Amino acid sequence: MDTKEVKSTISNLEKAIDDTTILKLLNILNDEVKPTEKLLRETKVGVVVNKYRSNDNVEISSLVKKMIKNWREAVQNEKNKSKKPSSTGSTPASSNSNSNANTPAPSTTTTKFTGPRNPKNDGVNVNRYDNSTRNACISALYTSLATDREDQPNHILTIATEIESEVYKGEYSKVTDGYRNKLRTFTMNLKNKKNPELRERLLSRQISASKFIKMTPNEMAPESLKKEIEKLHKQNLFDAQGATEKRAVTDRFTCGKCKHKKVSYYQMQTRSADEPLTTFCTCENCGNRWKFS
Ligand SMILES: [Zn+2]
Repeated sequence: MDTKEVKSTISNLEKAIDDTTILKLLNILNDEVKPTEKLLRETKVGVVVNKYRSNDNVEISSLVKKMIKNWREAVQNEKNKSKKPSSTGSTPASSNSNSNANTPAPSTTTTKFTGPRNPKNDGVNVNRYDNSTRNACISALYTSLATDREDQPNHILTIATEIESEVYKGEYSKVTDGYRNKLRTFTMNLKNKKNPELRERLLSRQISASKFIKMTPNEMAPESLKKEIEKLHKQNLFDAQGATEKRAVTDRFTCGKCKHKKVSYYQMQTRSADEPLTTFCTCENCGNRWKFS
């Protein structure tokens, strides 16, 4: 139903005097209106319909209450969706099919989590134990795990509870300093914005909670950071080898970066003996390093 059709139906509704006609028109609006904020504002259909809210006819008043409630929810959903920058721009008409009177309130399976996610905002009860420290740790794990995630609250709570439980067991079922330190470390790593892989691995159960709590900080590091560490490691190796090998400065090589020809180099057998030597070069001018064989 477009703006024009809605307006003409409203106009008929305002003229109607008998309950049968009013009900018929209200039902048409209920079935046909795809409630968007724009449509509701342009037609003022909500304002007109709302006048029948306290109608003596219970059938009319209850229908109106239901309609207004559905429309409000639909418009709220629309707003929530548009708040998300990554919205795919789905048309409100197709996603907000709440105009159907039989459509129940939006179920949790389609919930989009827009605000910051934490147990309170997600309506999750973390008070599993009599121990407030343990509950607080589950809460912190939950908030960390939920960072930039769309998983259902129950699933996140399950994983958070499992992690806490594994750490607790590991400390002989006591809240110790070790317990606190471990949970602090895990929480910090899990909420790292640059480490979505770690959350993904846990929430998709690629790694179990018991395996996770044995991970070193290096193992928890994001893939990019891991590569950085590897690179540093190789660089150190490069320096160590360079120091023990005889270095020679030559003008045979040109630095690709600064174009200088003052390059020191050494050669090494890095693979099997029948393959050519690898030449490691260092530009004496800018420090650029490269190798070839
Ligand atoms: Zn250079």
